[in-house]
Amino acid sequence: MRKPVRRKLPKSGTAINFAPNVRQKLEQRQNPPCAFCRRNDDCPEKYGEKKTYDNGITLHYYCLVS
Ligand SMILES: [Zn+2]
Repeated sequence: MRKPVRRKLPKSGTAINFAPNVRQKLEQRQNPPCAFCRRNDDCPEKYGEKKTYDNGITLHYYCLVS
């Protein structure tokens, strides 16, 4: 009897996420994410005004007040 062969799949994430991470970092220079929700959406209706402060912290207004 042969033992069933278990294929070892690479852990999802490492190789696959590499490229998007690099792209994200490039985008963060132009469009930094909110320190609270980690989204870089600039949607005042949803999250309130997005503002980057002098200390480099970016926050949505709604994230700040809620
Ligand atoms: Zn936010």
